[in-house]
Amino acid sequence: IPPTERLPEWIRRPLGAASATERVQGVVREQRLHTICEEGRCPNRGECYAAGTATFLLGGPICTRSCAFCQVDKGRAPVPLDGGEAARVAEAVQALNLRYVVLTAVARDDLADHGASLFTATIAAIRRGDPTVMIEVLTPDFWGGHADPEAGRRAQRQRLAAVLAATPVCFNHNLETVERLQGEVRRGATYRRSLELLAAARELAPQIPTKSGLMLGLGETAAEVVATLEHLRAAGCQRLTLGQYLRPSLAHIPVARYWRPEEFEELGAIARGMGFDQVRSGPLVRSSYHAAGSPTPPQDR
Ligand code: SF4
Ligand code: SF4
Repeated sequence: IPPTERLPEWIRRPLGAASATERVQGVVREQRLHTICEEGRCPNRGECYAAGTATFLLGGPICTRSCAFCQVDKGRAPVPLDGGEAARVAEAVQALNLRYVVLTAVARDDLADHGASLFTATIAAIRRGDPTVMIEVLTPDFWGGHADPEAGRRAQRQRLAAVLAATPVCFNHNLETVERLQGEVRRGATYRRSLELLAAARELAPQIPTKSGLMLGLGETAAEVVATLEHLRAAGCQRLTLGQYLRPSLAHIPVARYWRPEEFEELGAIARGMGFDQVRSGPLVRSSYHAAGSPTPPQDR
């Protein structure tokens, strides 16, 4: 957070269990892994680690896209694939006795399968170690590599189908923001394609719940947020996260507004009324926050 920007008091959060945090940091470093928790210096780390949850970032630390909000390294050539990554994630899951793991990946638009096999290989490796670990996937849109949109759609569907065939407990793909702000905030992804991906996931694997999330504070209006929730419901999306965007550095898109906790509560209530069956809505909610379905965060009660 840039020192020049004062955070509202409801954003600050105690660091939580220092011992759990140090333990996770140690194992992640030792295994040369990347987590969204650490890379994004997530304010919920103490709580999540103590609850046995973490989000691993697959495919190396460098993304082939460059979303204006994201702290993941980008703008350089992606690193060659690390054949040992899946096994090391599995070892870290065992060493930390994690019960609910979220797997996400940088967009690997340079790879033929756009990174789908990063997910399937890591799910298989974790299950070889312990088949009872619950694994949620938070994927990129798997779009690209074809000039013809129809061929593109077919390829995207194949990549998605491969990930769903590995039977994660939840399929998550974030819209990140409302339709009007997509071009400014996300690079290489579109609102329509992301909705189509969520709808395709429902169709291909109706037994796997789908989930999406938005960051608020980028200049969207409440009416635009509600319209986005309607579009998500129309795509069959069942779970939702709404959290406050926090600017990782001065090089990132500025915060337009800090939404108040009670506004998050209102939006959460609207979402439940629309039929989302799991809603996390609060300033510190992140897409993997309380993913395991543990008690709702204070802002969400
Ligand atoms: Fe990690 Fe997500 Fe928890 Fe943050 S909310 S610490 S990114 S699992
Ligand atoms: Fe970040 Fe965008 Fe890359 Fe995802 S696709 S890791 S949000 S830059």
